[in-house]
Amino acid sequence: MPTSNNRQYSKQEIAAMASQIREKYFSSENPMDGLLNIIGKNHGTLEVSFGVPEETLKIREDGSFVITIPANTSPLRDVFTVAHELGHYFLHSDRISPASFNRSGTNQKETEANWFAAELLMPAHLFRKASEELQYDPQRVAARFGVSGAAARVRMTVLGLV
Ligand SMILES: [Zn+2]
Repeated sequence: MPTSNNRQYSKQEIAAMASQIREKYFSSENPMDGLLNIIGKNHGTLEVSFGVPEETLKIREDGSFVITIPANTSPLRDVFTVAHELGHYFLHSDRISPASFNRSGTNQKETEANWFAAELLMPAHLFRKASEELQYDPQRVAARFGVSGAAARVRMTVLGLV
């Protein structure tokens, strides 16, 4: 039976979880290395969908999972998409029972997965420091974190830096 976790998280709880996970799995400057490390160590795989563009997480009976991303998106955008799907994995599944997440999830879950992705890829304290150093230039800050300019701009707004 599909299980999904309906509890809600505060931003602080999500930030704390993302920070622990980052500490455990991220070691290089390239965020995709860290994301692939999380996926590999938790019996997951990353697949590219060449047909209908898909951004999904599916957890199977045996607890393994697959994240699917579209074929025609930019690598920088893919970083955020994969981090978002991992947000569903850590926040909204029990990681051992079949479950499926796509864009039709509730707004609350989608928002939480976005918070998780932002915290995982752009931890607030590091992001504030880098933004100051780089004169709040979204492109340069984005390059520092290996994310898209759009993601860095949203993060600056959310953190009240611009
Ligand atoms: Zn989602």
